[in-house]
Amino acid sequence: MVNDPQHYVTGVLNRDSLTLAKAITLIESTLPTHQELARTIVDRILPYTGRGIRIGITGVPGAGKSTYIERFGTMLTGLGHRIAVLAIDPSSSRSGGSILGDKTRMERLAVDPNAFIRPSPSSGTLGGVGRKTRETMLVCEAAGYDVVIIETVGVGQSETTVASMVDFFLVLMIAGAGDELQGIKKGVLEVADAIVINKADGDNVVRAEMARKEYQAALSMLMPASPNWRPPVLTCSAVEGTGIDTVWKTILDHRDKLTNSGELAEKRKTQDLDWMAFLLDEGLRQWFYTSPHVQEALPRLRKDVEEKKTSPTAAADSLLGFLYPKNGK
Ligand code: GDP
Repeated sequence: MVNDPQHYVTGVLNRDSLTLAKAITLIESTLPTHQELARTIVDRILPYTGRGIRIGITGVPGAGKSTYIERFGTMLTGLGHRIAVLAIDPSSSRSGGSILGDKTRMERLAVDPNAFIRPSPSSGTLGGVGRKTRETMLVCEAAGYDVVIIETVGVGQSETTVASMVDFFLVLMIAGAGDELQGIKKGVLEVADAIVINKADGDNVVRAEMARKEYQAALSMLMPASPNWRPPVLTCSAVEGTGIDTVWKTILDHRDKLTNSGELAEKRKTQDLDWMAFLLDEGLRQWFYTSPHVQEALPRLRKDVEEKKTSPTAAADSLLGFLYPKNGK
């Protein structure tokens, strides 16, 4: 690995995909020297970021995400865009294998010179994976990818993590047999900028249309997150390629409305500040729990609380006292 950050910055800005891949490897690395190098790279490329359209896509396994992204991605490169596909895969930290962003799942896109597919980091907490994906998105933008797709499965908090880093959050669904709203976490509908019912083909067209109406009704009962946007419910067939262009038009329409109202810039600012707050929280927590004082006292105080020798408040106060070593006394 070259140690000069400028080597990577220049390579990324020159759209050299090999250097881009190496920069991303540094971002994903847990080695402190790599992390420091990555921080410098990200800082330097920051002025060249922000021009991409950032799209999040979620859906249960089997909803058709990879088929959809393959279709959508090739349509976009056909229109002259350069697209990057990244993944946040909450299952990978446990199973050790990634089920998302896998190149074999998007065969045409994987060989498209105007597309860049990066499988998700294969380990780490959601916070850690979130950081890596965020920074990877930035270097991809600096490398001239003007559409960045971040994919995730609907597990745990991963949708919220993705929604908090994109401009447009798309929920891909399929028409179910019973209750259409089953299995969908309420919070997901609240952050969706559009719901797309996939597999609206063959025998399934009527059911997909019924599902569309049901979701539209469900959405109309929610308070829209944006004063400038009412999330639509659309149908498509990733296999037949129908409805995909309407989704793109919807994304562009959303972008126009939010750009003109100033909401997009505000949204991104808020995302950055929230992210900084999250990192501070995480850093403080880690610093606190790994400090020798706390490591020594915590088990003892927990025991004291269990045995009612001290109150929870007094125990917590005594631990937090380590934050102010002298405490003016
Ligand atoms: P993912 O797990 O969400 O990435 O889903 P995949 O893209 O792997 O698709 C799961 C299965 O659904 C595959 O067998 C696809 O061929 C099929 N599939 C995906 N999109 C469509 C569609 O639009 N119509 C139909 N009929 N099948 C689809």
